[in-house]
Amino acid sequence: MKQYECIVPGCSWQTHAEEEAEIVRRASEHMRTAHEGVAVRESTVEQIKSRIKEAEASS
Ligand SMILES: [Zn+2]
Repeated sequence: MKQYECIVPGCSWQTHAEEEAEIVRRASEHMRTAHEGVAVRESTVEQIKSRIKEAEASS
């Protein structure tokens, strides 16, 4: 399980997913809906990937 917190300062949105690709997909969707002024570029995707962490297993 992987964990991601939004790269936009002051935004506390976060998500969890098994796959990095799924996190990137959800994060891109979040950027488009919640941060309309922020363009999602290739460099944004790299930033998203660099913020993805392994989540602790909770079970
Ligand atoms: Zn956000």
